[in-house]
Amino acid sequence: MSLVAKELTSGYGKIAALHEISIELVPGTVLAVVGANGAGKSTLAKTLAGSLRLQSGDLELDGKSITRLEANARARHGITLVPEGRRLFGSLTVAENIALGSTAAGSGKAKGRELVATMMESFPAIKELTHRRAGLLSGGEQQMVAMMRAAAANPRYLILDEPSLGLSPLLVDEVLRLVGLIATQTGAAILLIEQFVDRALRVADNAIVLQRGRVVARGTGAELRASESVQEAYLGG
Ligand code: ATP
Repeated sequence: MSLVAKELTSGYGKIAALHEISIELVPGTVLAVVGANGAGKSTLAKTLAGSLRLQSGDLELDGKSITRLEANARARHGITLVPEGRRLFGSLTVAENIALGSTAAGSGKAKGRELVATMMESFPAIKELTHRRAGLLSGGEQQMVAMMRAAAANPRYLILDEPSLGLSPLLVDEVLRLVGLIATQTGAAILLIEQFVDRALRVADNAIVLQRGRVVARGTGAELRASESVQEAYLGG
């Protein structure tokens, strides 16, 4: 049970922005993708979610190729993308926004409700905002709610494109704590794109470093935090 990219190459028009990327998203774990601006992180997110086509390589879900499936078909298989700068419905309350995420049927619905309750208990500051209109929340609060909404739909694969973009350091920690909670509580496999490399590697089970569209380092979060080249390039020596 996993989502596997095999030598995935993709890009824009005929130009490749990603070259032969091989990764595996494993249930209940976080794979962090780090790298400089323009390294290809968002391109990877879009290619996995299906809004961008593979130029070559293969994408397999539980051993079956989904390379040719469109984005909406991949979504039905439980692959969910939370893009950069995700917006909520500003005139709806936090609770109403999250309820929109609970599209799952049957036992999935009950599971979603249970998960929302657990997330709210872990984040009392968000719980307090339950009945507030989402448009009145800060950027960080909106990002947390957007992630809760995505998690409430019980995705099997959750792709988070820079959830901490534009947030204060304190909120970045909260956002990443929520990422860890979603992985352990839902068993979803999470692909976490982050610019805060050290913090991302702390919550990640595994990680890859992208440079100009290629994987230049990979390992567990702890291994990459200890690696000299990663320290020099991303962790300030
Ligand atoms: P950032 O952190 O700035 O979002 P990134 O690592 O997500 O960077 P991508 O957005 O995936 O990087 O960009 C990878 C490469 O693809 C870059 O060279 C970029 O200029 C190019 N690119 C991105 N979007 C497009 C597009 N719509 N059309 C053409 N080229 C694009």
